[in-house]
Amino acid sequence: MKPYVSVAVDGPVGAGKSSIARTAAKMLGYIYVDTGALYRAVGLYCHRNGVDMAQPDAIASVLPEIHPEIRLIDGTQHIYLNKEDVSEEIRLPEISMAASAVSAVSAVRAALLDLQRNMAKTNNVIMDGRDIGTVVLPDATVKIFLTAAPEIRAKRRYDELCAKGVQTTFEEVLADLNTRDYNDSHRETAPLKQADDAVLADTSALDFEQSCELICNIIKERL
Ligand code: C5P
Repeated sequence: MKPYVSVAVDGPVGAGKSSIARTAAKMLGYIYVDTGALYRAVGLYCHRNGVDMAQPDAIASVLPEIHPEIRLIDGTQHIYLNKEDVSEEIRLPEISMAASAVSAVSAVRAALLDLQRNMAKTNNVIMDGRDIGTVVLPDATVKIFLTAAPEIRAKRRYDELCAKGVQTTFEEVLADLNTRDYNDSHRETAPLKQADDAVLADTSALDFEQSCELICNIIKERL
């Protein structure tokens, strides 16, 4: 039997990974998996329960109480935290920061590993994150490192948040993005970095449709 195809899409905050990977997955008939949602669910739990984010041990100690789940409803990923659909709430800016903090804790990363790998064992997937090509799916069929200049990524993220009615400024979004990128690329466990065998895709000068086309072409050329 032909093995399942797995496409790893990694890159910094706001590179458009989720929207581009979701659209590319639809075009190719694959399942899209947003792994950041799992870290956000853990971050949300810690935020709600007043866990001290500066204390890795405190975060690790509540892990047994946290049961995140990815469910596909009409082909769309929903994230559940202890049976509650938190797909919307995990997108709040304070939860982005909480996700970034919990993602540096190795016990958190270890707890989420099998969940992610199992999705790729039973489906053709495009999975986005920070360590998919390096740690989660080191044997992925195709690996892509998606990036763009920080100001461009911040502008895209700012427009997205404004459209959702979130009160913020461009400067705040840029500072938040730089902090998260720094944390993600400097942590000890599974830092954000381009896998040796990943294709670099810079979307700074591309619009959304061109970016999706680029990703689909990279994938098709390598299958
Ligand atoms: O991709 P997204 O911005 O939703 O991810 C939220 C946070 O989760 C990131 O800032 C990063 O710290 C963490 N993350 C990670 N590894 C992944 C996906 C996300 O560390 N595979």
